[in-house]
Amino acid sequence: MTGDQDTPVRADPDVVVIGGGVVGLWCAHQVRRRGATVTVLERGELGGPQSCSHGNTGFVGTHGAAPLAEPGMLALAVPGATDPDSPWYIAPRADADLARWLEQFRRACSADASAAGFRALIGMKKRGLALLLELCATERIALESPGIVLAFKTAAGFDAARETVERTVAGGVPLRVLDPGELDVLEPKSVFDIHGALYNPEGAYLHVPDFVVEFGRVLRDSGVEICARTEVTDFAVRERNIVRLNTTRGELRPGTVVVAAGAWSAECARLAGVDLALQPIKGHSVTVERPPSAPRRPVLLSEAKVAMVPLGDRLRIGGQLELTGMSTEVSERRIRALLRTAREYLPALEQTPILQSWSGLRPCTPDSLPLIGPAGDLRNLLIATGHGHIGMGLAPATGELIGQLLAGEQPRTDPIPLRPSRFGGSAT
Ligand SMILES: Cc1cc2nc3c(=O)[nH]c(=O)nc-3n(C[C@H](O)[C@H](O)[C@H](O)COP(=O)(O)OP(=O)(O)OC[C@H]3O[C@@H](n4cnc5c(N)ncnc54)[C@H](O)[C@@H]3O)c2cc1C
Repeated sequence: MTGDQDTPVRADPDVVVIGGGVVGLWCAHQVRRRGATVTVLERGELGGPQSCSHGNTGFVGTHGAAPLAEPGMLALAVPGATDPDSPWYIAPRADADLARWLEQFRRACSADASAAGFRALIGMKKRGLALLLELCATERIALESPGIVLAFKTAAGFDAARETVERTVAGGVPLRVLDPGELDVLEPKSVFDIHGALYNPEGAYLHVPDFVVEFGRVLRDSGVEICARTEVTDFAVRERNIVRLNTTRGELRPGTVVVAAGAWSAECARLAGVDLALQPIKGHSVTVERPPSAPRRPVLLSEAKVAMVPLGDRLRIGGQLELTGMSTEVSERRIRALLRTAREYLPALEQTPILQSWSGLRPCTPDSLPLIGPAGDLRNLLIATGHGHIGMGLAPATGELIGQLLAGEQPRTDPIPLRPSRFGGSAT
């Protein structure tokens, strides 16, 4: 019997992690290194396209710590307020959970809430980068650190961004304005049609999904059992304890259950009677053969909220934020929009064959802070989800926090702002 593909070998591990995306793997890693036996249950293949950790752009540096909810985003709290071709789109539909989430999002758009969110997220990202550097150096996993260019097509976009530089630097992100000559030196083969650019030298990124597959290998070597193609279908609860998990490959009786099932965490937690304030925000990516004039480092096409990242002989272009429910169907229209946007910023970019079109569901909370910790009145359930647009960067500190909570250690990351109960409901 092989633990990575078949029926779980251990029927009663200390900890079961539901979900083999980047968050689940970091939880398993940190729990295992504290001595517990761990089994990861993953519905698809590890690193497979069902997971949001499959086709994303892999940024893990200090870039991107601003919550999606910020003062300028209030207009988005109205379903249907945006058009399907804009970077943000909310499909109009009657959905009580979505309406509640949007109301909580609206509240999180205050300047104070947004600033507090940034402080929490940048702290987690910085800790995450340190943990990643350690893991990738020890295990010889690729982590690239060439910095990131933030390109602005419009004068208005660039001017607004320039005004935030001082505040962003004070918040711990080493952002600076690039003059056009500097951009030519950084990217000599690329021709930009933009108004201006900023640069963050701490722009690091992972090759996705290779990172997930490699991390899985490291975990198996350390004794973590990873069961792919194994779906959790039900929980049995007795006297405030989860006493049994039913899966498509039999039953397990773990000591503790960690729900790290990404956008599916809400339906998973509901099996245990716990409601989570979570909505899937869909994004697309397209991976092409690398055009000769492609940038050598990641570039954010800022107004469009689209990112470009070189992956060896490939180039991935990804982005878009759609509140359109749980469907992962790829929209050709959205893929064409990504390619069109890339050429708006880089008109000379050669057309090359498309290698993969993909969409993924970001597990998003109203305030962009993840949900980490106990939930409901169950004694042996922990939640680790809600990492939204920056899960690759937040996952290491999440795993560490879960490991510390389970081991009764002093947490390095403050768990209070991350409590799953902070939006009320049955996660209290
Ligand atoms: C276009 C795009 C670009 C992005 N770019 C970046 C970026 O540059 N940097 C960054 O930090 N983040 C980025 N993100 C966000 C990032 O991808 C996510 O935050 C992250 O992958 C979430 O990881 P996760 O482990 O929580 O979820 P997932 O990776 O989705 O993993 C959850 C897993 O749980 C499994 N599962 C669900 N239900 C069950 C069940 N009942 N039983 C067993 N298994 C189950 C699923 O199959 C899935 O594999 C991007 C996202 C998108 C869409």
